[in-house]
Amino acid sequence: MAERWRVAVDRGVCIGSGLCAGTAPERFRLDAARQAHPVEPETEAADGVLAAAEGCPVEAIAITAADGGAAVFPPDE
Ligand code: SF4
Repeated sequence: MAERWRVAVDRGVCIGSGLCAGTAPERFRLDAARQAHPVEPETEAADGVLAAAEGCPVEAIAITAADGGAAVFPPDE
C-alpha cells in the first residue's frame, strides 16, 4: 500500500505567499484571508506535496507519516 501523509499548515506562521498552491494546486488552496490549507489533511505521499513544503519560505507546512506520525518534513534533526 502506498505511504500516506498527514499535511498541516500552521496558520500562525503562513504568510500567504501562495507558493504552495502554485507548486501543488491540487493539494493546497488559499482561503479568502490568504491562509493556505491542505485540500485533504491526509493524502498519498507525493512529490508535489513535499516540494511545496520544502518551498514554503517560512516552513509553515508540516508533513508526518499517517501511520505513527514520524516526521517527513521538516525532517527530525
Ligand atoms: S508557501 Fe507557506 S507561506 Fe506561502 S501560502 Fe503556502 S503555507 Fe503559506
